[in-house]
Amino acid sequence: HARRIEGIDKNVWVEFTQLAAEYKAVNLGQGFPDFPPPSFVQEAFCKAVSGGFALHQYTRAFGHPPLVKILAKFFGRIVGRDIDPLDDILVTVGAYQALFCTFQALIDDGDEVIIIEPFFDCYQPMVKMAGGKCVYVPLRPKKDKCETSADWVLSPGELASKFTSHTKAIILNTPNNPLGKVFNREELQVISDLCIKHDVLCISDEVYEWLTYNGAKHIKIASLPGMWERTITIGSAGKTFSATGWKVGWAIGSTHILKHLRTVHQNSVYHCPTAAQEAVAHGFQREFEQFGKPESYFIQLPANLQVKRQKLAQCLKSVGLQPIIPEGGYFMMADISAIKANLPDLPGQDEPYDHRFVKWLIKNKRLATIPVSAFYSHEHCKDFPNYIRFCFAKVNLSGYWSQV
Ligand code: PMP
Ligand code: GLN
Repeated sequence: HARRIEGIDKNVWVEFTQLAAEYKAVNLGQGFPDFPPPSFVQEAFCKAVSGGFALHQYTRAFGHPPLVKILAKFFGRIVGRDIDPLDDILVTVGAYQALFCTFQALIDDGDEVIIIEPFFDCYQPMVKMAGGKCVYVPLRPKKDKCETSADWVLSPGELASKFTSHTKAIILNTPNNPLGKVFNREELQVISDLCIKHDVLCISDEVYEWLTYNGAKHIKIASLPGMWERTITIGSAGKTFSATGWKVGWAIGSTHILKHLRTVHQNSVYHCPTAAQEAVAHGFQREFEQFGKPESYFIQLPANLQVKRQKLAQCLKSVGLQPIIPEGGYFMMADISAIKANLPDLPGQDEPYDHRFVKWLIKNKRLATIPVSAFYSHEHCKDFPNYIRFCFAKVNLSGYWSQV
């Protein structure tokens, strides 16, 4: 095998999704909703596949024209600048491919990429495959209290110490997966000041941008002064419209950066599925018209999820787990220390404790979750062995808990 894939053969989604299926466990692990997308995008998809021939064939390689046009209009209004639909946007096969194109296009051998922990696990293998070196900086819970994701913070001094002459990029994920932290303006300003000072790119993964709770506000770092020119903002229709199986994603940024992503895309994937892009374009058109109104899906979805978040937190507390209430996203981390103290030692001493605990939970309680140490570097995973991650974008949560 090629050296670039050395050491990245294990994958937490493959491992735990298979185990969950094998034991027929209730799956609160892998993040996807167990309810359908809103009817306006479903209908748009049906219409796209039921008429004529054009939407069954290839479309423009860098993004179906109706989709890039509405994405430019929609996000242009949010960042407060003109976004060029043809030059500043690339449509991809999910946010995964947008991330992959970004790293392949911009990271060279020996470049350093700063990753904020805990992080969505694919950043690390993608940086490695591009020849880059990951440099980690953890969010740490405040000493005195740790009730919500806002209590987990970066030390500005520690963050600054990670920037060197080799730093090419920093990856920001807000709302964060798995913690649910929504970075506030001051925190984004610290990151942006460092990016500008050291002439570093910012890769901003914002797939959960509409999912914020209790007044937490998602801010696009690309909208901060001096950041548009150096930020690649990544989004996902899977998360936006609760249609993870459609695999439509995008990268948005200045054309001097995006043109390099297009080079990777045109020489690898080339086209993305046309009908799904057509449906997503209709979805954004509808949301553009409803923006900020009570009918907007981007208002209704987080309002519905907020109720599930509350319910899950109560359930976890009732069985002795300590939840960290997320400000955004659809995951909740919970501290398992109290249950651990009452359990006999679990098999698999060479594995982190949370992995052993999750396997025990799947096999004995038929409940699948994800061990949080999977979202840490090898260096730091030992410092965070006592958390597991739940997905609360599920309808039937209460049904499960009443059976435990
Ligand atoms: N980034 C984050 C933070 C994610 O949680 C996910 C999973 N949805 C992705 C990227 C990949 O998104 P997609 O399913 O659109 O490829
Ligand atoms: N982003 C989703 C999660 O964090 C799904 C990841 C995956 O299936 N690879 O659960």
